[in-house]
Amino acid sequence: MAEAHDLIVIGGNAGGLSAAVFARQSGLERVTVLERGATLALPGVAGEHGLEVAYGETVTSVDVDGEDLVVATRRQSYRSRAVLVALRTSVEGWSPSIPSVGGDRVHIDRIPTPANDVDVLVVGHTDHAVELTVRLADLGAGVVLAAGGMNPLRLSPVGAQLLNDLERERRSTLLYSSSPQQIGEVDGFPMAYFNDRRTPDLQFDHVVFSSGRRAVGPEHVGATEAALASGRVWFLGTVDETPPDVPSAPGSAIGRALLEAVFPDAAIPPPEPSVRSRHDVVGVTEELRAEHYNATITYFEPTHSDLWVLRVRPDHGSVSHLPGQYASLGLGYWEQRIDDAIESNIDDRWDKLVRRSYSISHRIFDEHGYLADESGADELEFYIVLVPPTPDNVPGLTPRLALKKPGDRIYLGPKVAGRYTLAPVIDPSDTVVFLSTGTGEAPQNAMVTELLRKGHHGPIVSAVSVRQWADLGYLDKHRQLEQRYANYHYFPQPTREADIPKRYLQDVIRDDVFAEQFGVTLDPANTHVFLCGNPSMIGLPEDGDDGERTFPQTVGVVQLLVERGFTLDERKQRGNIHYEEYW
Ligand SMILES: Cc1cc2nc3c(=O)[nH]c(=O)nc-3n(C[C@H](O)[C@H](O)[C@H](O)COP(=O)(O)OP(=O)(O)OC[C@H]3O[C@@H](n4cnc5c(N)ncnc54)[C@H](O)[C@@H]3O)c2cc1C
Repeated sequence: MAEAHDLIVIGGNAGGLSAAVFARQSGLERVTVLERGATLALPGVAGEHGLEVAYGETVTSVDVDGEDLVVATRRQSYRSRAVLVALRTSVEGWSPSIPSVGGDRVHIDRIPTPANDVDVLVVGHTDHAVELTVRLADLGAGVVLAAGGMNPLRLSPVGAQLLNDLERERRSTLLYSSSPQQIGEVDGFPMAYFNDRRTPDLQFDHVVFSSGRRAVGPEHVGATEAALASGRVWFLGTVDETPPDVPSAPGSAIGRALLEAVFPDAAIPPPEPSVRSRHDVVGVTEELRAEHYNATITYFEPTHSDLWVLRVRPDHGSVSHLPGQYASLGLGYWEQRIDDAIESNIDDRWDKLVRRSYSISHRIFDEHGYLADESGADELEFYIVLVPPTPDNVPGLTPRLALKKPGDRIYLGPKVAGRYTLAPVIDPSDTVVFLSTGTGEAPQNAMVTELLRKGHHGPIVSAVSVRQWADLGYLDKHRQLEQRYANYHYFPQPTREADIPKRYLQDVIRDDVFAEQFGVTLDPANTHVFLCGNPSMIGLPEDGDDGERTFPQTVGVVQLLVERGFTLDERKQRGNIHYEEYW
């Protein structure tokens, strides 16, 4: 008689594989996964952990024979000391909970083909969503996982680890707290509209919804009463039909629970230290950095103590982007802060990353004094200001960034995105006006340089509102640009300096200052205006229930321009007022 297996896992999904890996790590020799299909949900895991896998195996019964359990499939039978049923089935009639367009670019649980070199949004927060993300990344897709509501502690360990690896290698982007509100369609491609202002609309080649799944009960694998009564047939998660005394546990805990109950003599590793106790372990910060960071800060130049120009070079992947787009940077909550503010729940998230979006800036001149061409660069430039704590908000990222220096490591997200670009500027004789507040100048720098490099000959104005002269990180370079290009004008407007009247950008537009100073008129027929930074400078209108649009009480630039015949560039209709809000 063939020697019995220690553990048979039925179902090669993230939960089943996690239990199998844990059993191997606890010293069990013969651990076999029976998989119905031709691949595992997380390929690569079996080889790495020495698991045996039998593919194309559909289980028909689980029974007891003497000391062993016998698992019969359509092709053969296996003897084992314990069995874990890790199968899940789809929930009948499941449909996405958000409005979505249909068509052949929006799928439920299905991997689009071909999947290489396409941008795919996966929507979901469970192990199943992780499985879809890993498979797509392995096939060469650029994947964003919108996992609003995901609790990484509830994922199976193998799923959580693979997700972490994908992020570090910049092979997928994880939006932990974002879910799309709607999937629309623009130019034949799905467009995801998000529920938070931090995640602007993103367009994809495909969207894949991860459907609801449920665990299967004993009848699904033909488990006999004797098998269930043995206490050695376990289930991943509970379902209503499972008798209450049949052992089960969620994916994050099943391996340990099963082993402790059935194999108390195994070399079961001690539980991972809790976040709080990990906090105090020497070297753990270095370990977390190595686990999460994927890029190096190569340049960190303070304009003043609270305003920095920095450059970041990723270990992997490209930095190609269009001028005006943004990327995301992240640092661990474990990093020191420059202020002494304390975040609520810091102990719960202490080993996680805080991520924020940042427009990609541009260095304007290269080392030879020519206009810089960043298209072949291997790093990205950012222009970032320190945000101080307020009674309502403890800022997460910038107080940690404040303590960084060249050579330090950081997280750079793989996804460069944004429709705030020069795409709408088609005529090189058009007037292009950039208005920004503070670091909202970052994308404008990239776009101004691009226009000049491409020989745009219409007037270009870049105006920026700051508090003080010292808040202008690129002032000298813009002055040099003005000297070289007669069609370029830089117009910094400090609001708190004695030598210049206090004037906001709204006043500049209202009073036609560009016409008076540079002879540049704002004619909607041939002018594009780009607005970036503080939302109250921009002043977007809100749509009321009655379809009426109302502008905010504090008049913003959009209202002034609309009154002059400009139109807002929006999801459904392109216009000549383009904007990027920072909060
Ligand atoms: C698409 C996009 C691009 C962005 N690009 C940049 C950029 O190039 N440079 C940059 O410094 N920030 C940029 N931001 C803002 C950035 O994402 C963070 O919100 C900011 O750095 C603060 O992060 P935090 O975690 O320290 O504070 P948070 O807790 O996120 O604090 C948010 C609050 O800080 C204030 N705030 C946020 N950003 C700024 C800012 N730039 N200037 C003044 N006050 C601000 C607002 O009151 C906001 O409510 C961008 C945001 C978006 C959505």
